[in-house]
Amino acid sequence: MNRPFHATKFRTHFNARTIPRHPKIDELKKWCVDFHRFGLTPLHKHGACGNLSFRLSVGEIPFVITASGASFHETPRDDFFVKVNHCDIENMVVYAEGTREPSSESLLHFAVYRERKDVNAVFHGHCKPLLLQGPQLGLKETTREEPYGTVELVDSILEVLNQENFLLLKNHGFISLGRTMEDAGELALLMLHKVSPTITEMGKS
Ligand SMILES: [Zn+2]
Repeated sequence: MNRPFHATKFRTHFNARTIPRHPKIDELKKWCVDFHRFGLTPLHKHGACGNLSFRLSVGEIPFVITASGASFHETPRDDFFVKVNHCDIENMVVYAEGTREPSSESLLHFAVYRERKDVNAVFHGHCKPLLLQGPQLGLKETTREEPYGTVELVDSILEVLNQENFLLLKNHGFISLGRTMEDAGELALLMLHKVSPTITEMGKS
């Protein structure tokens, strides 16, 4: 069977088929727009642009994440976002609320929130200059390339994550973590600025 190349590799169990509502979703929309503007969510070889999420309550799992296959080229609409209540990584099931499938990297976001109670925002993007130059700048990187949306990718991240807030995913992209969405977003832009000062200057205009 041919599956869309950005398809989720887990099964989604919908607890509700309604669009999630939360005041902070507007802030997430702003970061989706900014990530696109700064070129951090180009179409990746696996077909996804990127995926951004924030945790709803400190220390608890539920988070709001961009939908699978969401295009960052358009202004994000309300149905662009899905609430993930829980994930069963072992059985590859995501429990969610929304009208669309949650991001194919929902398991990755879940695992980071479970591992790092200090993190309330996880932004995942793709950026060639960062992949090429990041290691020389001392940025931490996973030790091996793993296919998107898999437990193997999650494991490769957890193995080296420790207290890092910025991590390169080998031959793939990066994750930027923060106590707030602003922390995660600004950190990604700071790293981008280190490898491509002109891109960030252009984006500010
Ligand atoms: Zn990716």
